Amino acid sequence: MQRSWIEETISKVGQEVLLFGWVKKIRDHGKITFVDLGDLSGEIQLVLSNFKGKLSPYLPLRVVGVVHQRPEKLINPKLPTGKIEVEVKEIEVLNDTLPLPFPLNDKGYQLNEVLRLKYRYLDLRRHRLLENLKKRSQLVEGMRRFLFKHRFLEIETPLLTKSTPEGARDFLVPSRLQPGKFYALPQSPQQYKQLLMVAGVERYFQIARCLRDEDPRADRGFEFTQLDLEMSFVTQEEIMNLIESMIIFLSKELGFKVYQQPFPRITYQEAMRKYGADKFDLRKKKEKGVLAFAWVTHFPFFEKDEDGKWTFTHNPFSKPLDEYEDDLLKGKNIGQIIATQYDLVCNGYEVGGGSLRAHKPELLAAVFRILGYSPKEIETKFGHMIKALSYGAPPHGGIALGIDRLTAIIQGESSIKEVIAFPMSASGTTSVMDAPAEVTKDQLKELGLKLLPKKDD
Ligand code: ASP
Repeated sequence: MQRSWIEETISKVGQEVLLFGWVKKIRDHGKITFVDLGDLSGEIQLVLSNFKGKLSPYLPLRVVGVVHQRPEKLINPKLPTGKIEVEVKEIEVLNDTLPLPFPLNDKGYQLNEVLRLKYRYLDLRRHRLLENLKKRSQLVEGMRRFLFKHRFLEIETPLLTKSTPEGARDFLVPSRLQPGKFYALPQSPQQYKQLLMVAGVERYFQIARCLRDEDPRADRGFEFTQLDLEMSFVTQEEIMNLIESMIIFLSKELGFKVYQQPFPRITYQEAMRKYGADKFDLRKKKEKGVLAFAWVTHFPFFEKDEDGKWTFTHNPFSKPLDEYEDDLLKGKNIGQIIATQYDLVCNGYEVGGGSLRAHKPELLAAVFRILGYSPKEIETKFGHMIKALSYGAPPHGGIALGIDRLTAIIQGESSIKEVIAFPMSASGTTSVMDAPAEVTKDQLKELGLKLLPKKDD
C-alpha cells in the first residue's frame, strides 16, 4: 500500500489508508483512545479500540486504518479533516522518545533562547515554525519562477574567495596548502555577479548566503540569505520596475497585501526630513499580512567616518548619477556626489538595496582613490575588477533583497530568527552544535597557525 498524506484522506472515505506521522495529542476514554496524528500536510483523528500499548506526544507512528465519516456531533469545523477520522487496524510505534524539554503545542515565544536553540530540532516541530519554513520555501520558489520567466539564470558563486567590501569585517579561512594565506567568506556575491555581466550572462540571480562579522545583536546573526540579482543593459527604472512586479506577483502567490502601488518613491533627503531615518513605516495602522513598500533614492555616495576619512555609504561598486561623474573622476565636491543607489523599505525595515555599477574602469578606480587606496592597493585588491571592466563590460546594475526579513514581515514575526531554521544565539553560538569550538593542535599545525595565549591566561 502506498503512503497517503493526511490531507488526502479527505477524499478517501471508506478506503483503507497507510499513514505516517507523529502523535500530537492523546485522549484516553478507556475502551476508546483518540489520537491526533500529524504529518507535513496536516492532522487527523485516529480512533483506537481497546488499545493496550503506551503512547506519548511526538512518538513517530505507522498506521493502517479505514477512513470514516465522523458522527455529526463529533465534527470539528476548525480542522480541514474535521469531518472524518481513521479507524485504526494496525499501529506501529517506529521509535522511542525521551520526554520533551518543553511543550510544543504553544507559540514558544516565552521560552529561553538558549534552550530553544539547543533543541532547535524539536522547537521546529512547533506548528508556527513549520509554517514559517513553508512560507519561506514558497517565497523562494515564487522568486525563482518569476525570474526564470524573465530569462534569468540561477548561478552559484564561490564561498571561498577574496574580501569584497560591504562595510563589515570579513570571516577568514586559513589555507592549508598555502600556509599564511587566507580566503575570505563573501560579504555578498557583488564582484562575481558583476564578472558574470562581463561574461555576457546578462541576467543572473542567486539565493545567496552572505557572511559578515559584525557584532551580533538580538536580531542579527553573522550569516543571512539574500536574493541577489544583476542585469545588463538596464536603467535604474527598469530594475526597480522588475522588482516591483516580482513583489506584486509574490503577493498574489503567497496571499499578502501590498499597501500602496506603485511603490511610493522618496529621496533620501526627503525621508530624513519627514521620518528622521532612511527606513520608515507608511502604514496608518499595523495589520498582519499588509506590506507597505517604498523606494528610497538619491543617497549620498560617500560620507566621513570617525577618523574623518571618506567611506562609501552603501556599495563602492556603484556609479553616481550621470551629472556627478565628472566630480567623481576629479575627486571634487565628494560629499555632494549622489549615487544611483535605491533601497527598498517595507513596514519600517530595509528589505533590499541595489544600484547601477561603475562599469567603466576609470570610474571604479576613482571611487577607490576617494576611499584613500593607493594605486598599488587598488591594483592588488581590485585590479581584477578594473581589468575585467576593461573588456567591454556592459552597463549593468542589480539589487539584493533580504529573504530572512521579508519572510519575517510576511509572517508577522518581529525577529528573523523565527524564519531561519538554525539561527545563532545573541552571543554568536550556533544552534544545536555549539560552534565556535576549539580545534586540535594538529589541525592548527596543518594550517600553519599558533594561538596566542588568551588575555586572562
Ligand atoms: N551587494 C549589495 C548588498 O549585498 C547589493 C547590491 O548592490 O546588489 O547589499
